Amino acid sequence: MSAIDDLPPLREVIATHGLSARKALGQNFLLDLNLTAKIARVAGDLSEVDVLEVGPGPGGLTRGLLAEGARRVVAVEKDARCLPALAEIAEAYPDKLEVLNADALEVDWEAALAPPRKVVANLPYNVGTELLVRWLTPPSWPPPWQSLTLMFQREVAERIVAQPGGKAYGRLAVLAQWRCSVRIAMNLPPEAFTPPPKVHSAVVHLEALPEPKFEADANVLSRVVKAAFAQRRKMLRAGLKGFAPDIEERLLAAGLKPTDRAEQVPIEGFCALAREMAKT
Ligand code: SAM
Repeated sequence: MSAIDDLPPLREVIATHGLSARKALGQNFLLDLNLTAKIARVAGDLSEVDVLEVGPGPGGLTRGLLAEGARRVVAVEKDARCLPALAEIAEAYPDKLEVLNADALEVDWEAALAPPRKVVANLPYNVGTELLVRWLTPPSWPPPWQSLTLMFQREVAERIVAQPGGKAYGRLAVLAQWRCSVRIAMNLPPEAFTPPPKVHSAVVHLEALPEPKFEADANVLSRVVKAAFAQRRKMLRAGLKGFAPDIEERLLAAGLKPTDRAEQVPIEGFCALAREMAKT
């Protein structure tokens, strides 16, 4: 295995800085630097972008991003124990790495990065979906990022790329695919991580489209989709009953069958319904 930089191997870094993994922080580390460089490459050319990394831990993916030529990396890490290891990386790549010791759910990350921006992260699973939903629902579109390259539990990754007709299809698929192109770029077995998690993982790559695939007001669409999938086994006319007294007419006007279930409705159908709902 060839070295991607002159820094010590990650096992040594972890031993030197006493970085035993903490479950509460979702710490499952990637120690193979060739693998982290491969994940960085999924994000495409990084030489002209600032990259946000959430949860760098001992810095495996951070080193991958820097070795792949990122213009700048801003890494947000909650666990202060990781800071000395990350400082060594910052020293090896002068002016390229800024580390923020903060909670990714609270930090104003946008202000810390110059556009254009990409997000690349091996996310802590406990906050991964929450962060994704926030990135997918900015106040306006296009969003402040060009792409998201994110590690998730495989089951969550499958929900993001799901097509209508199956159990995995739901709010996350609609939210992601309405305004992004999405794909699973890599599958990883538990053994790729230290310690190995109980589940399989996957890297999902989302590219922001310049505009949504179908016209709809983001807030109305979000409310319709949430209500429809909250009762996914019910027919649409029953699941959305509380939404409007004339729901059946509105469903028909949107080209949907009132007897369909949410998981059968393509994104285009939800957008048509959101447009009907927005009418007074
Ligand atoms: N990127 C490293 C790697 O690939 O080996 C570590 C990934 S590990 C799955 C998740 C990392 O996120 C841990 O370092 C953990 O301390 C950090 N973390 C957990 N919750 C966080 C939060 N709310 N904000 C920022 N970092 C967090």
